[in-house]
Amino acid sequence: MLRKARIIFILLNLLCFASVFSQKKYFQQEVNFNITVRLNDSLHELNAFEEITYINNSPDTLKEIYFHLWPNAYSNSETALSKDLLDAKNTVLYFAKPEKLGFIDNLDFKIDDAPVSWSYYKDNVDICVLKLDKPLLPSGNILIKTPFHVKIPEGKFSRLGHIGQSYQITQWFPKPAVYDLNGWNMMPYLNQGEFYSEFGSFDVSVTLPRNYVVGATGDLVNGETELEWLNVKAKQTRLKKDFHPNDLSFPESDKKLKTLHFHQDKVHDFAWFADKRWNVLKGEVELPDSKRKVTTWTMFTDLDAGYWMKSISYVNDAVYYYSNWIGEYPYNHATAVEGALSAGGGMEYPNITIIGNANSDFELEQVIMHEVGHNWFFGILGSNERDHPWMDEGVNSFYESRYLQTKYPKNSILSAYAPKRKNIFGLGKFPHRLMYYYAYLFSALNHKDQPIEGKSDIYSSTNYGTIVYMKSAAFFDYLKSYLGEEDFDKAMQEYFNQWKFKHPHPKDLKNVLEQQTGKNLNWFFDTLINTTTKVDYKVASIKKGTTTENEMGYCYKIKIKNKGDVVAPFCLSGIKNGEISSTKWYEGFKGKKTFTLHYIDVDKVKIDADYFIPEINRKNNTIKTKGLFRKVEPVKLQLLWAIDDPNKSQILFFPVIGWNYYDKWMPGISIYSNPIFPKAIDYLFVPMYGTKTKELVGSANIGATIFSKNNFFQAIRIGLAASQYNYDFDKKSLNFNKIAPEINFEFKNKNARSHIKSNFRFRNLNINQEKLVYDKVGLEYVSKVKSSSRYLNDFLYQYSNSRIINPFNFNVNVEQTDKMVKASATLNYRITYYKKNKGLDIRLFAGKFILDEISNSSEIDYRFRLTGQDGRRDYKFDNYFLGRSETNGLAGQQFVENDGAFKTPTVLGQTWDWLGSMNLKASLPIKVPINIFADLGFFENQSVASKSSFVFDAGIQISIFRNICDIYLPLLCSENIKNAYGYSNMKFAEKIRFTFNLNQINPFKQIKNIE
Ligand SMILES: [Zn+2]
Repeated sequence: MLRKARIIFILLNLLCFASVFSQKKYFQQEVNFNITVRLNDSLHELNAFEEITYINNSPDTLKEIYFHLWPNAYSNSETALSKDLLDAKNTVLYFAKPEKLGFIDNLDFKIDDAPVSWSYYKDNVDICVLKLDKPLLPSGNILIKTPFHVKIPEGKFSRLGHIGQSYQITQWFPKPAVYDLNGWNMMPYLNQGEFYSEFGSFDVSVTLPRNYVVGATGDLVNGETELEWLNVKAKQTRLKKDFHPNDLSFPESDKKLKTLHFHQDKVHDFAWFADKRWNVLKGEVELPDSKRKVTTWTMFTDLDAGYWMKSISYVNDAVYYYSNWIGEYPYNHATAVEGALSAGGGMEYPNITIIGNANSDFELEQVIMHEVGHNWFFGILGSNERDHPWMDEGVNSFYESRYLQTKYPKNSILSAYAPKRKNIFGLGKFPHRLMYYYAYLFSALNHKDQPIEGKSDIYSSTNYGTIVYMKSAAFFDYLKSYLGEEDFDKAMQEYFNQWKFKHPHPKDLKNVLEQQTGKNLNWFFDTLINTTTKVDYKVASIKKGTTTENEMGYCYKIKIKNKGDVVAPFCLSGIKNGEISSTKWYEGFKGKKTFTLHYIDVDKVKIDADYFIPEINRKNNTIKTKGLFRKVEPVKLQLLWAIDDPNKSQILFFPVIGWNYYDKWMPGISIYSNPIFPKAIDYLFVPMYGTKTKELVGSANIGATIFSKNNFFQAIRIGLAASQYNYDFDKKSLNFNKIAPEINFEFKNKNARSHIKSNFRFRNLNINQEKLVYDKVGLEYVSKVKSSSRYLNDFLYQYSNSRIINPFNFNVNVEQTDKMVKASATLNYRITYYKKNKGLDIRLFAGKFILDEISNSSEIDYRFRLTGQDGRRDYKFDNYFLGRSETNGLAGQQFVENDGAFKTPTVLGQTWDWLGSMNLKASLPIKVPINIFADLGFFENQSVASKSSFVFDAGIQISIFRNICDIYLPLLCSENIKNAYGYSNMKFAEKIRFTFNLNQINPFKQIKNIE
């Protein structure tokens, strides 16, 4: 026994030893660059030569070195960048003309002066691998040299580019990938997803015409003449009064050239920007601790000069605040330049940031300070931004929010966008910092939430903003509030000191914060950062208890319930007359727990009164200390929309007016649940008054959605829809109403970036319809109104892929009622050509009656129709018609593009058997939305004894609002249509038909479809 136990003990010891031993120690490579580059501003090219000293600090022997050749991302429509842009529905690179593209070539790699063989890495033209003839040993170094030539792409695609002679030279030179504990980190250039590079020093000499203003990473070496020239420019700009935003033409380039030499240590990238038109401002900021002075520059055209004239103070304040909160700025200058950036509002590089168009002072300040802030989270703390984008974007957005909150404590969420409006939609009440909380709440309540930790390519383009930036910022605000500002800052300063000029990982941030604060932060890093777990505490009850701790002799016992799935800290506040009198933080717990409050002079107790916690449901956070209905909040009517106010029971409404031929004008009101922050129950009631019929008309919709955690369904909604309007027959006004319970299964889509959606819906339609029947009384027919009811079961499966190139969708529909079953399938496929939203639309339809025992006797005409349904044929009462019973006039020319979807009106192709059609629409390469269409159809022709018929037509479509309102002018058709009953009597104007599809404009649906 003992012996055995001993062996196990020894084994365990060995195991521990082995695991410690195999845990490699942190290391990082050093890469030093020496680049000479010449700009050709008539051909938009760079001709350059690069020398790299690569120092292997790893314990490994390297047999190859991976390089990024990122300008090749712009070389064709198949690159990772082009695909990444397409995922975000951006086709600008995909459809770019060849002369607008960019690339890098003339490469001739040599290692220690000997040629080296290299090849592209797999299918990536922007990554290559150099095979080393002599392996690079640990602590060895090699000199890698290559000339290179860059054709600068047009500046419309992403970060590298030129707009005319304005140059943004970024991600532009051959650059080794990072080699770290995980091996080589090669990554194709992407728009959504940033970078990871080795630290080192840069010596870059740029040669270009003398009259270019250049902003770059690094300090000028022997740059006295250039600095003097810039100082003069700065003086001129300060005095300049007449900016010409409408004249942004480029002055002629100076025939004489200049060479500017930049040097910078301890950075991992080098970018430069050049523009002959720039105004220049120069400033200085004294760092809070060392009092060292940092020079600040801003460079900008006349375009937004009004905003930019104040820009120096933004750079200064950003450098100051970040130095104060995190750690001192280690470089000599911080610069912001204006450029036509095509990747977000701004982009950061060491020492220098590029800023796109601004629309207000506040927006410009926000973008400048955010990008300057990246000098810390990206520049100095060089995380792998591709694998952990929140470590730079998220943490930096948190500090951005903190900067704005500190500098403008009175600013509300609205200030940035509508500074003059005091309080629209209730937004004016909330401080600016809550913008990111509400963005998170939007994702969470719409069930689009994703974990903060994730590689950049797992996020949809909306989520890259709302999760990586905003959710992270809101959650770090929570962490800071819990730890307290002082402790949080100390811990972050320690993180900075330990990890500056290195590559920290998420665990490194967690370790430092835990060590510094002495707290276990698993709930934050392991749960809230790594998963989509929600925080929700609820006040369950309040009771008076006895105490000796105050003179009154009583206290409040508050029972709190943790309804969320994480044991996370929370805070409780006492509220007196709407003011917070005291707030205290508590550690998290599971289940229910009672807390004692000794501050008793309060009228409410509230969880997280200051909105520090990303609480998913604030409705259950408050309880009154007195009264009967302690949790009930007053009702508030709100026109149009308002942000969620947990202190009110909001009812959103909006006046509406409808129109149809029979009810005429229908004034009414719509009352609806919050479409932006949805709850489990959604509703939309639209009662209206028919001014002609003097009847209550309108519609109502209510549903409950369950979001399932299984892998099959995303959501299941059970709903009820009802509507009631009038139509007429023989000038007699008749009523119809419909009640339809339904259940909808939305299938799960595992990849947030995918554009695929699918669902299955079952509806049971119950239609009550007044009809006019005629009785023969003597020799005359007398009409009378008779009510009839019927049902129809409607099964629909829909699948759509809304990708930007060649999107398609299809559906299968089965309808069943007494003695009748019909089935149909529709496919819509677009072959995209020429540009976004242009292409050839192909629609295929096939329909067949599976059971028909009523065709001869049915009161309701369920036939398939070659020409789609008009108002009289809409037996499901699913569509909106101006005049449902009209056969003549404008109202009679409205139809729905379903069934055969022929545009030419004809009596042909109304069948109780089968129908098939193909409908084509082709965009023309012109600006106006005029398309050509053609329809081909086959159907069982019962009038020509069991023969089938083939028909076609063609004409012009004018698209007023695509898929909502289209007008069709039929120009030609097959002989059988021409010979059919009624055709020859119709004038051309009467053959024109149009669609008016109100179902497409539903804000509830539009919010759901945000990708
Ligand atoms: Zn950023």
